[in-house]
Amino acid sequence: MPLPEPPPAGSRMLPAGTYEGQVVLITGGGTGLGRGMAVEFARLGATVAVASRNPAHRTEGVAAVWEAGGRGLGVELDVRDPAGVVAAFDEVEAAVGGVSVLVNNAAGNFQVPAEAMSPNAWRAVAGIVLDGTFFCSAEFARRRIRDELPGAILNIGATYAWTGGPGAAHSAAAKAGVVNLTQTLSVEWAAYGIRVNSLAPGVFPHDDVDAQWGDGHDERMRERSASIPAGRVGRVRELGWAATYLCSPFAAYVSGHHFVIDGANWHRRHGFSMPPYVPIPDLMRGSG
Ligand code: NAP
Repeated sequence: MPLPEPPPAGSRMLPAGTYEGQVVLITGGGTGLGRGMAVEFARLGATVAVASRNPAHRTEGVAAVWEAGGRGLGVELDVRDPAGVVAAFDEVEAAVGGVSVLVNNAAGNFQVPAEAMSPNAWRAVAGIVLDGTFFCSAEFARRRIRDELPGAILNIGATYAWTGGPGAAHSAAAKAGVVNLTQTLSVEWAAYGIRVNSLAPGVFPHDDVDAQWGDGHDERMRERSASIPAGRVGRVRELGWAATYLCSPFAAYVSGHHFVIDGANWHRRHGFSMPPYVPIPDLMRGSG
C-alpha cells in the first residue's frame, strides 16, 4: 500500500487570513512548483508578487493567485542581475508595500555530463540558483533591516545538494551552496527577526512536466511512483502547504532548517547494494 494521498486541493492547512497584509515575492512563481506555492500563499490571503523573465509565465502565475483568492502582481526579474533585483523590489514596494516573505524558487537545470559542460552552461545554472538566491536574499534583508520589520526567506533546494547529482553537476553544486547559505544567513539575520529555511522537493511532476511527457505520461508516472518508497510522486499542493507553514508565524522558532519532502526517496540506498553503475553519457544515450 502506498503512502496515503493528502487532503484534496483547496484544503487549507493554516487558519484563514494567515498571510493577510503580507507581501510574498516568489521568483519563478509563474510556472510549476513556484506557481503551486503562490496559490497556497494566495489562499491564505497573501499578496503575491510573481517575479521572473518571461511575461507569459508571469501572467499565468498572477492569474492563478487571483483565482485562489489572493492579490497578484507580476514583476520582471532576472535574478542574476543585482541592479534588476533592486528595481524589482522597488517596483513591488511602490505597488503593494514591502516584501515580508521571499521564496527563492527560480532555477534552471539540464542534464549534461560534467566533462561536456560548457562554461556558459555552468555559469547560467550557478548564476540563477546560487547568485540569484544570494542577490534576492540580501536585497530582501537590507529592506527588512532598514524598516525594522521581521521576515522569512524560503530557499527551494533539492536533495542532490547532499548526495551529489551525477549529470547535473552545475545544479547540484549550486543547490549545495544554497543549503550552506541558508545556514549562514539564518544565524546572521536572526538578530533582525529574519528566518531563513530551505525546502527540498523530491519528485513533483507538475503541469509543465505533464505536457512534456505527452502520450507516455501514464507509463512514466507509474515508473516514477514505483521507484519511490512512498509509492507515489509528490502532489504540488503538499509542497505549497510546507512552504506556507515554514514562512508563517507558526514556524517562528524554525530557522536554518532544511525540510525534505520526498516520500523518503533520498534515503533509499540499501547497504552497499545499488543498481548496476551506468556512466552518465551512456545513461543519457538511453542504455541505462
Ligand atoms: P520550472 O517550472 O522550470 O520553473 C523554473 C522557474 O524559474 C520558471 O518560472 C522561470 O521563469 C524561473 N526562472 C528561471 N531562470 C530565471 C531567472 N534568471 N530569473 C528569474 N526567474 C527565472 O521548475 P520547477 O520544476 O517548478 O522547479 C521549481 C523549483 O523546485 C526549482 O528550484 C527546482 O530546482 C526545484 N525542484 C523541483 C523538482 C521537481 O520535481 N519539479 C524537484 C527538486 C527540486 P521565467 O522563464 O519566466 O524566467
